[in-house]
Amino acid sequence: MPIYEYRCERCNTTFEKLVFKGEETRVNCPDCGNKEVKKLLSATSFMGQSIGTCAANAPREFS
Ligand SMILES: [Zn+2]
Repeated sequence: MPIYEYRCERCNTTFEKLVFKGEETRVNCPDCGNKEVKKLLSATSFMGQSIGTCAANAPREFS
């Protein structure tokens, strides 16, 4: 289950939310209820991506 980080376009609050399949469009700000929230790149998924890229590139660099 992915946890996404969002930022409210109206009050600039950032919050994390557990999003199930098909529920991505139903996210709204817990502070003001605004539905126009922007999805941010969460730290956890960003780290996973860099580790994957590193492992994939390593064998080629050493050969
Ligand atoms: Zn808000």
